[in-house]
Parts: sequence; structure tokens; C-alpha cells
Amino acid sequence: MKAICVRAFGGPEVLELCDVPVPQAGPGQVIVRLMAAGVNPVETYIRSGAYAKLPALPWTPGSDGAGVVENAGAGVKPRLQPGHRVWVAGSLSGTYAERAVCDAGSVFALPEHVTFAQGAALAIPCSTAWRALMQRGAAKAVETVLVHGATGGVGGAAVQFAKAAGLRVLATGGSAAGREMLARLGADVIFDHSVPGYEDAIRAATDGKGADVILEMLANVNLARDLTLLGRGGRVVVVGSRGSIEVNPRELMLRDADVRGVMLGNTPALELAECHAAIARHLADGSLRPIIGRSFPLAEAAEAHRAVMAPGHAGKIILHIAEVSDRGAAFF
Ligand code: NAP
Repeated sequence: MKAICVRAFGGPEVLELCDVPVPQAGPGQVIVRLMAAGVNPVETYIRSGAYAKLPALPWTPGSDGAGVVENAGAGVKPRLQPGHRVWVAGSLSGTYAERAVCDAGSVFALPEHVTFAQGAALAIPCSTAWRALMQRGAAKAVETVLVHGATGGVGGAAVQFAKAAGLRVLATGGSAAGREMLARLGADVIFDHSVPGYEDAIRAATDGKGADVILEMLANVNLARDLTLLGRGGRVVVVGSRGSIEVNPRELMLRDADVRGVMLGNTPALELAECHAAIARHLADGSLRPIIGRSFPLAEAAEAHRAVMAPGHAGKIILHIAEVSDRGAAFF
């Protein structure tokens, strides 16, 4: 079967399409024939060799995907049998591939009305969004959340979860297409984070009171400014950061405010199960509909990695894997 192989850490060009043996399912495992795989920034950090925890080489990237169960190993419950549509939150072999071997506990039913492309946009982005907003951010209905960087995988999910929970949602995007997407998702007020002084408009949109929760996608650029945009008792949840920044701690004192980090990989099992249950619930009631910004064939994984690190997001970036004849109308 075809899979992306990384034989040496480096730039996007190290993502090569190669032939690898078809994996076999052990006890408690399933083989998923993938139709789509999610492309997340973390896979670019690992690919470059700059990430704290690196896999052994050769490595097939990817932990998110969607497809159909091809076969199930001994002891796998009937809910995961050949032909069932599923989404995947973690894989033992990597999802940038035609098939992936997964622990059965990481594989979930994909409702008929959710496309495979959307299914590949669920695991890391939506779990992170739920954990940041609800578990670390402790957001409540009627509060105001600022999703600072809302046009990508995590931000788009956070906007949808926050709207469904009854929050007022302020959201930022750096491109016209991204901001149009935020309007479609129902964000209440939308800002352009590439315009100097945009924080004044955010402050005005809260009548000077500040936001209760800020989900921050680029803390090394925005954290100092975030502290001035918080209301009393406000919480900044740092989701993404690509460097260091100087902040004025007095801004926290003045507001009895908190800065909280989130790292999905640290999530205790019970809380991760809550994230997955929230995804299933919001898919079922229609309040979570991942928007696909761009899709690349598996062979163009290098282009997908360039795109996920470039500005101008308007939804999630995925790889489409199956042949066109397999995809049909339900793909996108
Ligand atoms: P993504 O799909 O690549 O989206 C990146 C987002 O960052 C886009 O909305 C982009 O907006 C926004 N952005 C760019 N410049 C910005 C600025 N100056 N201010 C505010 N936002 C800005 O990535 P993602 O999957 O949503 O992940 C977002 C970040 O969270 C990444 O850094 C990722 O590594 C991190 N992350 C962390 C965890 C965790 O466990 N902590 C989990 C998942 C992701 P425009 O393109 O519109 O400018």
C-alpha cells in the first residue's frame, strides 16, 4: 500500500510517497482504510526534527483520519466491524497512508451525514478546542470568548463549540476568506489580526469590560496584548506558541486574571473521553461541522505541510487518500 515515509527529519521535501506492507490487526486493534487524513501543525514540527519528542525513523506522520474499518482483531466489539464508517483519534502506524492500524479505543463511529474529509478534521483540532474552551478555560454560557486565531482547525471548532454553549464569540482571522468563514460559523464580531491596532476594536466590542476567556493560537505574538483584553477574573488559554514574549504581570494583578496552558497530550484519560464524547454529541446535533479549507492528494503531503504553516487559513487542511471512485459525494 502507499504511505508517506520520512527517512530523515528536515523540510517538507522529506515527506516521500512509498510502498509499505499492509498492516495487520492485533488483538484489540482495527485496520482502517483511510479516505482522508488531517494535517496538523504538530506534524510539521516533528517532521522538521525540532519537536521535543521524536519518533523512530522511518516514520509515517498523522494521528487523525477517517475511513472505513477494513478488519478488526480479536476482542474488538461489534461497533467496529468491516465496512463501518469511522474517524480516528490516534494511530499506531500513522494516518498519512492508505491504511492505519489503530487501537479500537481510538476509533469512533462517523455519522452518515458527516463526510470523510470532516471526519479527518476532528481528533486533534476539536479535542484541543473543547479542552481549551471548557476544561482549561472553564467557559460558561453568557460569557464572552475571544478566539484569537479562529480560521484554522482548532479555532474553527472553538467558535462552533462556544456558539453551541451560548457564549458571545469574538473571533480573529488574517484573510478575507477566513473572516467570511467565521461569519458563516456564526461568530458575533470578527476582527482582522493583521491590522495594526485591532485590539482597540476588540476592547470596544466588549464595552471596555474585556473578554472572559481568550483562546490564543499564537501566544509569542499576542500574549502581552491578550492580558490587556481580559476582563476581571478572565482566563487566557495558551493553545499555540512559537517562541517567547515579554509580558507585564501587572495586567494580571489588575484583573485577578489567569494564564493557563493546554497540551492535548497531557489530557487525563477521563477528560479526553469527555472531549471525544463532546465531539460525538455536537456532530450528532449538527452544531459541529468542520470546514475544510484545502485538500491535497496523499502524494502532495509536502505541499500540505507548506500550506498548514502559511497564513491565510479558511478552514482545516486535509489529505485525500482514496481513489476518486471511492470518494463519491460523501467525501467533502
Ligand atoms: P492552523 O489550522 O494552522 O491555524 C493556524 C491559526 O493561527 C489560523 O487561524 C491563523 O489565522 C492563526 N494566526 C496566524 N497569525 C496569527 C496572529 N498574528 N494572531 C492570531 N492568530 C494567528 O493550526 P491549528 O491546528 O488551528 O492550531 C493552532 C495552533 O495551536 C498551532 O500553533 C498549533 O501548533 C497549536 N496546537 C496546540 C495544541 C495543544 O495541545 N496545545 C493542539 C493543537 C494545535 P490566519 O491564517 O487567518 O492568519
